[in-house]
Amino acid sequence: MADPPTPPYDLIEHANADHSRVVLVDWTLGNACSYACSYCPKALHDGSVAWQRVEDVVDFYDQLHQHYTDVRGKRVWLQFTGGEPTMHPQIIRLLEAASAQGFSVSLISNGSRTLRFWEKIAPHLDSVILTYHNEFADLDHFRAVGRLLADRMAVHVNVTMRPDHFDRTLDEAQALREVLPAVSITLKPLRVGFGNTLFDYTPDQLAVMQGGLAQTKAQQGIMPRGLMTVQGADGRRANLRANEFVLQSQNRWRGYRCNAGLESLRVRDNGTVTRAVCAVGGDIGRLGGPIALPQGPILCTAEVCSCTADILITRARAPTGPIPAWP
Ligand code: SF4
Ligand code: SF4
Repeated sequence: MADPPTPPYDLIEHANADHSRVVLVDWTLGNACSYACSYCPKALHDGSVAWQRVEDVVDFYDQLHQHYTDVRGKRVWLQFTGGEPTMHPQIIRLLEAASAQGFSVSLISNGSRTLRFWEKIAPHLDSVILTYHNEFADLDHFRAVGRLLADRMAVHVNVTMRPDHFDRTLDEAQALREVLPAVSITLKPLRVGFGNTLFDYTPDQLAVMQGGLAQTKAQQGIMPRGLMTVQGADGRRANLRANEFVLQSQNRWRGYRCNAGLESLRVRDNGTVTRAVCAVGGDIGRLGGPIALPQGPILCTAEVCSCTADILITRARAPTGPIPAWP
């Protein structure tokens, strides 16, 4: 096998070209959660922000459809998160309205709601990311939810790997691997306060997480994102998972030209909208008010690109001169 390219890379792009047509909207509906994980900052789960109003959400659906679908032929893919997004009191209405717009929809969930609930909303979902937090989750229930959904759509499971519970968590991840052969599983390294610094893992633990748990059966359906292809200055190319950028500290792209805002958007729990989770470029509006949806790429000014959703965006080492218009 040829040697992988040497960082810094000239280009980071989607390995699957279909993913570059997707505008992935990372949408935090509120900050209430059924869990209170020890590594999760309180503001992400304490319910201190009111759930977003259905009218404001649905108005923004119309703007997204006009800007990205009608004018640019992009596929809008909403990815609802929280807190725990399935706790939004009108979640079923929000999902029905998204289906009516022709949007694709994913949920990032801890999987804690009943099987009956998941049965009801499954027809409105295209994929699900379930995160297994073993401080609170029930392994049997989580397995049952995973099985119900994996028969109908693409399912990815993140298993959060606390260094002090590492071996027990790895055993549970392997138990999930056995009953969910078609589900992709990430052994997810945790960052302190969900910031830029990894928890204190041993080299062995880092190697285990980097190795991951191989899938044994083809996945149903599609995910909005997948592998990225990196290209070095000498033209050599290789595919990398988001996790690998983090574990190799290669997720630093200040000065790159980035498609944040063209392939991604972020809606915060308080309704403010930014191009991506990193918020480079600042707020572009707020639900219920005017929102200036981006017209072109942006130069990265962030020290680190921390979030998985942000890592999975196209970017290129910026040539000198102005940022080209899009498209
Ligand atoms: S499930 Fe997610 S949002 Fe809820 S407390 Fe745990 S990490 Fe935070
Ligand atoms: S931090 Fe933001 S602007 Fe910078 S590379 Fe990541 S997504 Fe793009």
